[in-house]
Amino acid sequence: MFEGLSEKLSGIFDQLTRRGALSEDDVNAAMREVRRALLEADVALDVARTFIDKAKERAIGAEVLKSIKPGQMVVKIVNDVLIETLGSDADPIDLNAAPPVAIMMVGLQGAGKTTTTAKIAKRLTERFKKRVLMASLDVKRPAAQEQLAVLGRQVNVDTLPIIAGQTPVQIARRAEEAARLQGYDVVMFDTAGRTHIDEPLMAEMAEIKAAAKPHEILLVADALTGQDAVNLAKSFDERVGVTGIVLTRVDGDGRGGAALSMRAVTGKPIKLIGLGEKMDALDDFHPQRIANRILGMGDIVALVEKAAENIDAEQAAKVAEKMRKGKFDLQDMADQLAMAEKMGGLGGIMGLLPGVAKLKDAMANAKIDDNMIKRQRAIILSMTPEERRTPDILKASRKKRIAAGAGTTVELVNRLLKQHRQTADMMKAMGGGPKRGPMAQMAQ
Ligand code: GDP
Ligand code: MG
Repeated sequence: MFEGLSEKLSGIFDQLTRRGALSEDDVNAAMREVRRALLEADVALDVARTFIDKAKERAIGAEVLKSIKPGQMVVKIVNDVLIETLGSDADPIDLNAAPPVAIMMVGLQGAGKTTTTAKIAKRLTERFKKRVLMASLDVKRPAAQEQLAVLGRQVNVDTLPIIAGQTPVQIARRAEEAARLQGYDVVMFDTAGRTHIDEPLMAEMAEIKAAAKPHEILLVADALTGQDAVNLAKSFDERVGVTGIVLTRVDGDGRGGAALSMRAVTGKPIKLIGLGEKMDALDDFHPQRIANRILGMGDIVALVEKAAENIDAEQAAKVAEKMRKGKFDLQDMADQLAMAEKMGGLGGIMGLLPGVAKLKDAMANAKIDDNMIKRQRAIILSMTPEERRTPDILKASRKKRIAAGAGTTVELVNRLLKQHRQTADMMKAMGGGPKRGPMAQMAQ
């Protein structure tokens, strides 16, 4: 699900992660792309705008960790804001009230209210060992009450016996009384919908609410709702007051905008998602998981966090300063190699980056791998501090000793020295300092 937005952002951030330091303009450019992607994912206009403003504000003011690229920091910030907007944790159905705890389901016709009622009842029965009674208050559609009864038999949950000719409010009262007298833990009210929001529907919902006194009012909404999501959620929330949202047909949703829109507009948690017609096709809503899918860019957020954990920012700053001055000596190179190793080696770093296949090939062609990093560090560590600062003083005899000390050959010592010289020259030539991270330079 959510491939649409996922692909878009993945394309954008693929570019960002391959670029060097980002200016404020770059952040703005990135956010323009994020905005376009959100709109294509059918996120409501206002929601997209607010989201971008928040992310932009955070990005421009943020301290970028020295060890990572600004582009990665932008990615992290967009991800953080997305999770915050979606809700920071899975929010379960609240049963913290005197039994029978009443749950009322509201939503448009065909949204999946009846199906979801039965799915939730099944889950509460099986997973939480609750005794649940379901009642259909849908007297509009012929056979609507029978539909719930059929599902009830399917999931082994009791339904209120059907009495013809009662109003929704009468059924609600009867259900509450039956649940109370018969010691049910939970009573669920499945309501009627309309094809669109109108006054009679809202009036009916308000009346039922007054009679049923629900502890939870769950808005059941189709994930494919798109731009209408905002109006839908707003209307129900303003008129009836919802405590949570259940998003259905997430199995068929290629865009994912509704989740973001409804959550942002109502501030109410998305509690569950429907993933199919079957009775067990119901899942907790996990913001992080969904955000990862929406952003769809490998686990770049984990990379950023890992970098923050492992890398001594002070040291990184020192090395960067030396690079800027064109004084990149072998000790600095050893420090860089140590950083790379700390981050789980090339494999660890590469595995976290999206779209790295090409870069990996380049590394392989340059014969740079984890063993190479270890060997290069060993060579540098076999040198004296003076030799690390001024490698030009190295004579053939010393190279031989160093090679022996590092368990390698003079040829590899020479190759390392050459690589260091090229890197140092390149940095000097760039004057303003390195425009690309150490990994990219090594790949050359
Ligand atoms: P109601 O009018 O709101 O009560 O909607 P129903 O519960 O009768 O559902 C309408 C149709 O949507 C039925 O065919 C359900 O099987 C289907 N449906 C409900 N939830 C989901 C879902 O999460 N995924 C899919 N693919 N279909 C669903
Ligand atoms: Mg129904």
